[in-house]
Amino acid sequence: MEKRLAVLREKLAANNLSAAFIYSKENRRYISGFTGSTGYVIVTADKAYFVTDFRYRDQAQQQCVGFEVIIHGSSLICQLKETLSNSNVKTLGIEEGTMTVAFYENLKSSLDNVELLPLKGIMDELRLYKDAEEIENIAKAAAIADDAFTHILSFIKPGIREVEVAVELEYFCKKHGAAEMSFDSIVASGVRSSLPHGVFSQKVINNGEFLTLDFGCVYNGYCSDMTRTVFVGKADEKQKKIYNTVLEAQQKALEQIKPGILGKEVDKIARDIITAAGYGENFGHGLGHGVGLAVHEEPRLSPLGERVLEANMVVTDEPGIYIAEYGGVRIEDLVLITEEGNRVLSKSPKHLIEL
Ligand code: ZN
Ligand code: ZN
Repeated sequence: MEKRLAVLREKLAANNLSAAFIYSKENRRYISGFTGSTGYVIVTADKAYFVTDFRYRDQAQQQCVGFEVIIHGSSLICQLKETLSNSNVKTLGIEEGTMTVAFYENLKSSLDNVELLPLKGIMDELRLYKDAEEIENIAKAAAIADDAFTHILSFIKPGIREVEVAVELEYFCKKHGAAEMSFDSIVASGVRSSLPHGVFSQKVINNGEFLTLDFGCVYNGYCSDMTRTVFVGKADEKQKKIYNTVLEAQQKALEQIKPGILGKEVDKIARDIITAAGYGENFGHGLGHGVGLAVHEEPRLSPLGERVLEANMVVTDEPGIYIAEYGGVRIEDLVLITEEGNRVLSKSPKHLIEL
């Protein structure tokens, strides 16, 4: 945490900000270690405050090492005003993507001599590079998901509903150490597999259908994210072609995920393969995204991904083909970028599994 605070302070100084005000769940946890649901972090050049209410007094004192914990009374705004003015804060960096307009207006009208400015990507930058402990947590989350995938293969059979698969998957993950799921699990069969984010429904899974499972576990606050598409029954030639096109795109992109390449360059490798097979129009999302405390974070691997990939970033590689009224396939790995190249954290098999 000390190192994270030091980097944040460097970035604040470089951006002419006298303090940062942070309260989004992931950024707050990243910078303070606090795992609760309410708390406000103020980091100045030489102080770090954690403002919360009575319910979190003991927890904050235990978790927020190096922070002065302040319990606010009935008015949070009055407390923030006092703390900021005691620290002589003139320019306060706020999380512009998280703060509501109401909170912004309230702060702005209460703080006379403080200018509120966007933190822009400062926290995203910090969270890009995972340290050894973060990597361990992400790998553990991925390992639980791998075990869950193995388990669910013997559970899936024609006639059961998507919701049953989703519940079994989540039950397994939580029983084996996941605190929660990274997002609402996607269990999409048959024509529903053409919905890239088709969560799960009451639909019965039938023979002759693709079944896409996209899910992740949270372990010590860190997310995993993996997709596998299996086939219930025997796939025909067209279904095999679609599957193998996605698989080739996924693997060719994976080979190039390494330090020095741009997000958009990796995206293009996969996109070109899918386009050459005639399915360019059916791959309507980016190739991947960063994963950490949030399941979707920087960097982006998409046609707009201008960031250079570097060691210790964790990203996904997840091309797909989605055909309306027919079905779809997506294959997604979770990948740690290393000095030498990459290490795949999701270990489940990727060949076409016919159940
Ligand atoms: Zn996913
Ligand atoms: Zn993903």
